[in-house]
Amino acid sequence: MARVHNFSAGPAALPLEVLQEVRSELVDYRGSGMSVLEMSHRSRAYQEIFDDTEVTLRRLLGVPDAYKVLFLQGGATLQFAGIPLNLMRHGRAGYVVSGNFAQKAWAEAQRYGEAVALATSGDTGFDRIPARAEIERAAAGQDLDYVYICQNNTIFGTQFHELPACGETPLVSDVSSCFLSEPLDVARFGLVYAGAQKNAGPAGVTVVIVREDLIEDGPALSVCPSYLDYRLEAAKGSMYNTPNTFGIYLCGKVFHWVEDQGGLEAMRERNLEKSRLLYDYLDQSALFHGHAQPSSRSIANVTFRTGDADLDAAFVAGAAQRGIEGVKGHRLVSGMRASVYNAVSLDSVKALRGYMEEFEAQNGTR
Ligand code: PMP
Repeated sequence: MARVHNFSAGPAALPLEVLQEVRSELVDYRGSGMSVLEMSHRSRAYQEIFDDTEVTLRRLLGVPDAYKVLFLQGGATLQFAGIPLNLMRHGRAGYVVSGNFAQKAWAEAQRYGEAVALATSGDTGFDRIPARAEIERAAAGQDLDYVYICQNNTIFGTQFHELPACGETPLVSDVSSCFLSEPLDVARFGLVYAGAQKNAGPAGVTVVIVREDLIEDGPALSVCPSYLDYRLEAAKGSMYNTPNTFGIYLCGKVFHWVEDQGGLEAMRERNLEKSRLLYDYLDQSALFHGHAQPSSRSIANVTFRTGDADLDAAFVAGAAQRGIEGVKGHRLVSGMRASVYNAVSLDSVKALRGYMEEFEAQNGTR
C-alpha cells in the first residue's frame, strides 16, 4: 500500500490506524448489521458513539463543566455568522485581523453589528501576529461583546503564542488549524471553535465549545437561524437536525487516537519537533525563505518560498514525484506551505526536509 507524505492544509492527513479501524467497522458496525453511515442518529447505537466522542474530547482538552460542546455543520465559515448572531448583545465586537479567515470573520460580523478592527498585520502581508499590547490597548474601554482572534492563520503560517488579556470581555478564537495540536486552556475563552478537517477528523464537522452563561439567554439577534442558535443546539445535544453522523464518528476515532499517542502534551512535543526541523532549515537556507516572522511562526503550517515563481513550481512538481503532496502554497501567499498536523509523521517531515536540501544543492543560491 502506497501512502504519500501528505502536507495538505485541510482536508488533511488522517492517522492510518483510524482509517483502518473505520474500514474494519464500515460494513457492519460492531455486530449491528449496518454501517454507521446507515444508522439513525436517534438510535441508541449512534447516541453511544456521539456521547463517547464528546466525552473523549472533553477529557482530552479538560473542558470545564460550564462549557457546552457542539458538533455542527457548515464549516468554520458558518460560525463567522454564528458568533455575532449569538454573542453581539450590545452590537459591538473587536476583531484582530491577522489573516484571510480573520478578515472574512470580521467582514461577516459587520452584517450584524459594529465589528471594530483592533489590530491588523495586513500591511506586512500577514507575516506576523499583531502585538499583544496593541490589541489590549485597542480593546480597552471599548465595551465590546467579545474580542475575536484566529489563533492559527493556516494560509500565512502564523500563530498566537500568547493570548491577549481582555479582562471580562470574552475571548473568541478560531482554532481550526491548531485544534488538538497542543493543549488549549478552554477556560481562557468565551468560545473556541474549529473546523475538523485539519486535526480532528473529516470536513463537514465543526466543533464549537462555548461558555454556558454566554448563551443561556438565547441568541443576541432574533434573526439568528434556529440552526445557529447555540442554546437550542446545546439543548438538543447537537441534534436539532440530522448531524454529520459519520463525520462525528470519525472525529471520535481521532480523539481516541490522540489520547493513545499520549494526549495533547505529546502532540505539542511532536509538532514542535516536526516544525522545528523545517524552520531550522529555513533559518540556514540561502534559497528558501520563511514567510512568517520567527516570533509568530505556526506549529502547524510552515510557509516558505524561493522568491522565484518558476523555481517554486519546480519544487512542488519535484515533490509530487517523490510522493510529497500538498506543499503548494495558498495563492494569497504563493510559494510553499507544509502543514504538519498531528497525523503527519516525523518521517514525512524528514522526507520533505531531505528534498529541500537536495533541491537547494541542485538549484544553488539566489
Ligand atoms: N478558519 C481557519 C483558520 C481555516 O483554516 C479555515 C479553512 N480551512 C476556515 C476558517 C474556513 O473553514 P471551512 O472551510 O471549514 O469553512
